[in-house]
Amino acid sequence: MTEINRNITDIKKQLPEDCTLIAVSKTKPLKFIQEAYESGHKDFGENKVQELVHKFEELPKDIHWHMVGHLQRNKVKYIAPFVYLIHAVDSLRLMTEINKQAKNYNRIINCLLQVHIADEETKHGFTEDEIRALFENNEAEQFENIRFCGLMGMATNSRDKIKVSGEFSSLKKLYDELKNKNHVNTNFQYLSMGMSGDYHLAIEEGSNMVRVGSAIFGTRQNN
Ligand SMILES: *Cc1c(COP(=O)(O)O)cnc(C)c1O
Repeated sequence: MTEINRNITDIKKQLPEDCTLIAVSKTKPLKFIQEAYESGHKDFGENKVQELVHKFEELPKDIHWHMVGHLQRNKVKYIAPFVYLIHAVDSLRLMTEINKQAKNYNRIINCLLQVHIADEETKHGFTEDEIRALFENNEAEQFENIRFCGLMGMATNSRDKIKVSGEFSSLKKLYDELKNKNHVNTNFQYLSMGMSGDYHLAIEEGSNMVRVGSAIFGTRQNN
């Protein structure tokens, strides 16, 4: 077994059964993904549109491609035909564009709303109140070609476990609240939180989708 597949197997053993592992393959070569795919892994994440499109074109078509990073509106059209789940929807303008492109391609695109839970200003996302308002004012309903499948968040990059757990825990509460309300065009089933450095804390707080890159594929030079 290769090191990549060993890492995937090890991490999966630590996850609850209903938790999906997204192998974040950004900056890594096709052959790394191929290797994991051949041993049965199907969910991969990327954060750059051009790289995602290239990998989609070169690799088997039954891979689930997750767009995990910040998405620019003018690039939605390139991934709209095939993307499996967009994790970081962080503005109404982006939703408008995703909805339009989904319509173009005759698809319903699965999306997660990104919630700003960290201290850092650089992380994108809605506030909790903005998310509630989106559903309560029936704004979300106008996006007929988007299915809102849950929430995504990134915790503060900190060694303070209590702080990080607290951020994950507040996201889980919001997720449960909205899931129970069952609004139009929602099908809340994914709570995407946890990366290489904090997925243990995230699953303790109820994550069912973790996005793990470096712990599987090794450290990256950039981003
Ligand atoms: C890169 C990235 C990850 C994975 O990060 P690691 O620390 O390498 O596990 C997860 N989520 C997003 C949004 C990312 O951009």
